Amino acid sequence: MDNFDLHNHSTRSDGLLSPTQLIELAARGGVHAIALTDHDTTEGLAEAGEAARRLGIVWVPGVEVSVSWGDHTLHIVGLGIDPEAPAIVSGLKSIRDGRLGRAERVAKVLEGMGIPGALEGALALAPNESVLSRTHFGRFLVEAGAVKNTQAAFDKYLAKGKPAYVPHQWATLPDAVAWIIASGGTAVLAHPGRYGLKPWARGELLEEFRRLGGEAIEVVTGSHRPEEYATWRDIAKEYGFLASRGADYHGPGESPYEPGRLPPLPATLAPVWSKWTQ
Ligand code: AMP
Ligand code: MN
Ligand code: MN
Ligand code: MN
Repeated sequence: MDNFDLHNHSTRSDGLLSPTQLIELAARGGVHAIALTDHDTTEGLAEAGEAARRLGIVWVPGVEVSVSWGDHTLHIVGLGIDPEAPAIVSGLKSIRDGRLGRAERVAKVLEGMGIPGALEGALALAPNESVLSRTHFGRFLVEAGAVKNTQAAFDKYLAKGKPAYVPHQWATLPDAVAWIIASGGTAVLAHPGRYGLKPWARGELLEEFRRLGGEAIEVVTGSHRPEEYATWRDIAKEYGFLASRGADYHGPGESPYEPGRLPPLPATLAPVWSKWTQ
């Protein structure tokens, strides 16, 4: 099969590897095509694209857009975007502008729980301060000795429903999909198994996403448990979505699969890259 890996992070958002290091790791993982999809920024794309070209890998410029949909936070991946397109530039900036205020609220809660200095600590771990993320708080909590790993930081403090989770308003779903389409990209619903949606809400989301112009959903992703693949395979077919595959790699010790090393898409699905390769 074609080893396409269409969802990965770098130090430009909450990944641990630079864009170049990420692409080099992907090359060792045997990928034919790679996307960098940092949260709410396209800052790493030029460097990653350069590395991909040097290594002879097909390059797919991408982004992962943070969205609020009712009480849920969703992630919409844009693939094949033009990072200079005005709609995506201004849209992503509007999301990034909200991140520092949210981080201040997270730090305040942690301080009330007897963990001071979280804002400064998280910022010190964020090479790109404009995309300060819960992941950086998670790494700070490990460093501070509050938990033993970042997963435990989410389970104890940062995940939805835990004490240091603070609600936040991200982009709307119509805006996010519109920005991606306006920049020439394909809108993909990231890791749909992660949102804890009841079946009726799931149907509503998939219908709305399709109506707005969303074309694909992730099926094989490092953010799904392998036993979830069949569920999302069947849903992709039922709703007529193309299927995507991506490690959602963040760094050594933080992600189940390195780029390119996750299972193939089920053969019965139409891959999202069939749009570009036929
Ligand atoms: P943010 O956009 O700042 O809210 O951070 C979201 C990021 O936190 C995601 O992209 C993941 O990298 C990470 N994350 C979210 N939920 C979890 C979780 N339950 N366990 C581990 N990492 C998580
Ligand atoms: Mn992340
Ligand atoms: Mn995500
Ligand atoms: Mn991701």
